[in-house]
Amino acid sequence: MDLAEKLEILADSAKYDVACTSSGVDRPGQHGKIGSCAAPGICHAFTPDGRCVSLLKVLYSNSCSYDCSYCVNRRSNDIRRATFIPRELAELTIGFYRRNYIEGLFLSSAVMGNPDLTMERMIEALRILREEYRFHGYIHAKAIPGADPLLVRRLGLLADRMSVNIELPSEVSLQRLAPDKKKAAVLAPMRQIADESRQSRREMQVYRGAKPFAPAGQSTQMIIGASPETDRHIIGLTEALYKKYSLKRVFYSAYLPVVEDSRLPALTTRPPLLREHRLYQADWLLRYYHFSASELLSEEEPNFNPYLDPKCCWALRNPACFPVEVNTASKEELLRVPGIGPKSAQRIIKARRMQHLGLAELKRIGVVLKRAQYFITCNGYLGAHGTRAEIANALLDPKAFGVGVQQLSLDDCMPKALPDAAPELHQLTAEGMDVLQAAALLRQEAVTCITRQM
Ligand code: SF4
Repeated sequence: MDLAEKLEILADSAKYDVACTSSGVDRPGQHGKIGSCAAPGICHAFTPDGRCVSLLKVLYSNSCSYDCSYCVNRRSNDIRRATFIPRELAELTIGFYRRNYIEGLFLSSAVMGNPDLTMERMIEALRILREEYRFHGYIHAKAIPGADPLLVRRLGLLADRMSVNIELPSEVSLQRLAPDKKKAAVLAPMRQIADESRQSRREMQVYRGAKPFAPAGQSTQMIIGASPETDRHIIGLTEALYKKYSLKRVFYSAYLPVVEDSRLPALTTRPPLLREHRLYQADWLLRYYHFSASELLSEEEPNFNPYLDPKCCWALRNPACFPVEVNTASKEELLRVPGIGPKSAQRIIKARRMQHLGLAELKRIGVVLKRAQYFITCNGYLGAHGTRAEIANALLDPKAFGVGVQQLSLDDCMPKALPDAAPELHQLTAEGMDVLQAAALLRQEAVTCITRQM
């Protein structure tokens, strides 16, 4: 098999991995070395389904000894297999870099025989790249659960970011769908990476020659929709992972059916993209808005509302926290107002040192007044009074009712529900209803439902 063919197979096998952003490293170019890492990260590409991927994203091998039911590379699946040799992969990466095709490498692998053997080969490829080719650019490498801690350490000294995929939100689902994987084997390298990363940061402050260990931290990925866990369970787990293992990111991957299996949703199931989006919004609230998982969902309400973003939902459930006086509120209080994000909260705090802020100033600052108007007071403005239906309408997330246009030919365009619109919209259109009519009907139903809860 020639190299181009291997690349085609191994890049295709890697496309289901979404944990590949490169934020977190700022390393300027150095004389005698190739490559650099700017803080905004390496170049990203967007796949047709909207995922953000780095350009050279490959598996070292897709020949897997494990049989995870949701994975296209599983042992029992009849697909073309390929494996790089370390020098081949290093030469390929540096060749692409020199031709300006890529700015970094995202390397993962199936389990070839056993985790140690797989990690040794990946480490050798990265060693050649770093030491022989003096490659100084961004590398994100996946640690293979179950590998020897010494190998995890060696990988961490070569990579900028590491990740260990948690795969599924609970141990029960892991046992059912990925019987070769164990929760403890996933969490052990996560703990090691967190500890070694912290220690290396400390050493680098003290010793000149100290080596960075995964300086861009670690991330993980879990599949959403292949198993029955609720959003409450997932977001609680996310919070625990951020706290315990100092993760930079938790990535959610809407389950995309690729194999027929009685333990999994049917092949015709749509990937739950809107649910994935709500989880990312909630994740954002945990990391930048000082929310806790227990504030976002409860036992009575274990899943996110498809029509409202999690912050609006929280605001509607907690009317006693509003209105917030913009000119005196703390940053934490401002961040809880729908329509005010971290940047506008920061700008408000800076601007109100000079003057009393009114609606015109807030608009200039970038506050989304369509949402915020019902939750704030400022400079004599006492908050908008709207009927419940008006407020619900202003807060609805347009994404849930998204309709796009599919161009069939030069003069034939057909409106179509967008892939991440609410599942109910897809269902109504599949039953034959006109998509615009279905979106209007669904919107009406969502407003009625939300006003009842207000
Ligand atoms: S270990 Fe499981 S998820 Fe990873 S490549 Fe093999 S079958 Fe796929």
